[in-house]
Amino acid sequence: MRIVLIGPPNVGKGTQAERLIKKYAIDHISTGDLLRKNVAEDTLLGQRAKDYMDKGELVPDDLIIDMVNDTLEHIDVEHGFLFDGYPRNPVQAEALNDFLLEKGLMLDKVIYLYADKDLLIRRAVGRRICPVCHTVYNIFGFPPKVEGICDRDGATLIQRPDDREETVRKRLEVFKEQTVPLVEYYEMAGLLLRLDGSGNPDEVFDVIVSELGEG
Ligand code: AMP
Repeated sequence: MRIVLIGPPNVGKGTQAERLIKKYAIDHISTGDLLRKNVAEDTLLGQRAKDYMDKGELVPDDLIIDMVNDTLEHIDVEHGFLFDGYPRNPVQAEALNDFLLEKGLMLDKVIYLYADKDLLIRRAVGRRICPVCHTVYNIFGFPPKVEGICDRDGATLIQRPDDREETVRKRLEVFKEQTVPLVEYYEMAGLLLRLDGSGNPDEVFDVIVSELGEG
């Protein structure tokens, strides 16, 4: 099972990805997570990527494609993988195609999760994360018992820099300009599944699995 998950920021790609990789026992490649790890470890790549990420812009393609190709060399691509947050534009899609073609492989499906813009903004702007245990709260939907404090360990909750409202709006614009063309690209290739990502995570997961099959 070789899958790509496309969707606007905060549509729930990460949550669905975690479940899908368990269900189908495949590798998960999240370029956002890989970049955040590089930023946290202050690597050269992290230093070059951070400003773009904080502003909600895409990190330049050459950095991303090198990072992804390097990751793909270390996993069993024949067995399967799920990309979340990659490709983000047609240049990256071509790079992924080239990589797979060289190995005689193809993508099986591209899942496009969509949701209403206001919902996506509320999800992001309300999100607070515990820096210690990584529990994710939302001040609108799943608030901590005491404002700003983790229920589990009492740590002060933080907001991801790219969850600030102006950054979220920018990320949505970037999605529309750069990533929406990919939806058409994969539709033409006959790979696209267009699914509503606005339900609760269990509902969305069930719909995805019913479309992909039991694997
Ligand atoms: P994400 O968690 O996937 O929304 O990614 C967070 C940020 O990392 C994005 O806003 C971009 O700045 C950067 N990023 C992640 N994946 C890519 C990609 N495939 N191409 C360019 N930038 C990316």
